Amino acid sequence: MKTIRSLAVLMFLSALAAAQSTISERLRVNAADAPRNILHSTVTIPVAPGPVTLVYPKWIPGNHRPTGPIQNLTGLHIKAKGQELDWQRDLVDMWAFHVQAPAGVSELEVSFDTLTYYGKNSAASSKVLDLNWNQVVLYPKDTPSDAVRVRASIELPEGWKFGTALATASQSGNAVEFQPVSLTRLVDSPLVAGFWYRRVQLSSRAESPEHAIDMVGESEESLAITDKDVASYTQLVGETGRLFGARHYEKYQFLWTLSDQTQHHGLEHHESSDNATGEDVFSDPNSHNLEADLLPHEFVHSWNGKFRRPAGLATLNYQEPMKGDLLWVYEGLTDYLGNILAARIGLRSPEQFRDNLAYTAAMLDHRAGRTWRPLQDTATSVQILFTAPPQWVNWRRSADYYPEGYLIWLEVDTLIRRQTNEQKSLNDFCRLFYGGPSGPPTVVTYKFDDVVATLNRVAPYDWARLLRERLDSKSPRAPLVGIENGGWKLTYTDQKNSTMEAAEKTGNALDLSFSLGMVIGKDGDIGDVIPGSPAFTAGLGPGMKLIGVNGRKWSKDVMLAALRAGAHSTQSLALLAENGDYLNTYQVDYHGGERYPHLVRVEAQTDLLSEIIKPTAP
Ligand SMILES: [Zn+2]
Repeated sequence: MKTIRSLAVLMFLSALAAAQSTISERLRVNAADAPRNILHSTVTIPVAPGPVTLVYPKWIPGNHRPTGPIQNLTGLHIKAKGQELDWQRDLVDMWAFHVQAPAGVSELEVSFDTLTYYGKNSAASSKVLDLNWNQVVLYPKDTPSDAVRVRASIELPEGWKFGTALATASQSGNAVEFQPVSLTRLVDSPLVAGFWYRRVQLSSRAESPEHAIDMVGESEESLAITDKDVASYTQLVGETGRLFGARHYEKYQFLWTLSDQTQHHGLEHHESSDNATGEDVFSDPNSHNLEADLLPHEFVHSWNGKFRRPAGLATLNYQEPMKGDLLWVYEGLTDYLGNILAARIGLRSPEQFRDNLAYTAAMLDHRAGRTWRPLQDTATSVQILFTAPPQWVNWRRSADYYPEGYLIWLEVDTLIRRQTNEQKSLNDFCRLFYGGPSGPPTVVTYKFDDVVATLNRVAPYDWARLLRERLDSKSPRAPLVGIENGGWKLTYTDQKNSTMEAAEKTGNALDLSFSLGMVIGKDGDIGDVIPGSPAFTAGLGPGMKLIGVNGRKWSKDVMLAALRAGAHSTQSLALLAENGDYLNTYQVDYHGGERYPHLVRVEAQTDLLSEIIKPTAP
């Protein structure tokens, strides 16, 4: 019932947007300088004479926070009938520009550049570009993004090819003109381009909807996807069809940038996802393991996040602030589904899936910050957590609504299976909540009570109480009930965890979270120390640099050998560390040897975990 009510509210809102007169913008992007990380924009914006305020998108969907890179907007000029106008930035809102449109003027011509560097990261290299349209456009303040119609075009570097969910109107050489769409749809349809490009069809062009991967990379070899992976991603399409029972897009494109030069991330959209990984994903088994849930995760968002969206994240335009309180559904459930789908389609083996889950559970079970910051607050404070520095992350907590959401939804899934004698599961919830009729992109908002009501339709239970308990808990222990309900138990041994080993080999850091309670970077830099751990008790902290271990120069091997030797000794580990200009030796009283998390089977319980990751589609 609640769902239907929110649908009615939504239809009312979109009717409002439609009633507001639509304005038509013309956007020309010249990306010829993409290899230098500068994009040139020209936007023609219809206006009435008098004061005008133009805004640059601030609150970015999928980021859930005010990340529109206004600091990167440069070279701004605003003209009317060829005459340069003076502009003033708003004194409070850095994303807003005020200008006076002279009498007799019906449009403004705005030109500016967007720098695509963000700290150490960039969106482009000599060979690839990942373009987000929100970074190259301005629009009039207080206008719903649905009410701005944009005719966009792009000029690409010589010989580059591209992928985007936008429909092409015409193309001449490197110049591409797209069919006009709403600003909402434009921002929801990023474009990847590159010298090396490859398209992989996941379903035939005749099938509806069509699914494909559009890859760009730093070299031809970086695009060498294996037949096995193509089979897995094809199966992903089938699995999601079974899971959700409907598709809310007309076609779907996985955009995939494979580059060691540009930023690595994933960003969801209705009809595409913007995935960026290293170049070695198809050739290096460790990278492959670590990135296995990326495309499944972003694809799930087409249903969970884009189609069904928390009411506080469904905003009128990109200036309206977002509320992140339901991100444990938006991201947490997506994290769970992305991980189990990666196992269902064979991108991760059952052993890799379990090691990955064991690591997630152990990491959260050692989170000292959970005694002061409930999980709910990590979602509510999404705006500030992402930009926090990494030091003392364990005490501050991070975007834990992802991994702990994973544990909570595993608990919900196993509970439904137990309550219904395995007749029902979270798959049934997904069909009810995210299914409905298939069709073009649309948004249906929800609130906490809608989630609870749908869970009760699947299996009656006091879901509201359980979820609130999990979300508001300040227990030092992570919720491991789902693993136990699933017939497994979290344990620690001296055998390496495959997820941690893969991270160690690709990132070159040594994660001793579950033994000494610290993470050490490749040059000995101490990344984090867990409050209450042996390293913490000895006085070590992030920002220090490890120099020696028991009198020997530090290296990963020396450290691990000392850990093993310490298990048969009463002597403390002597760690020599540099803190700024000073050196100090820290005596760490630890004798547990190497210690890594794993899941072990509890034979008395049904193995629901293995059941959950079995493929469901033929
Ligand atoms: Zn996500």
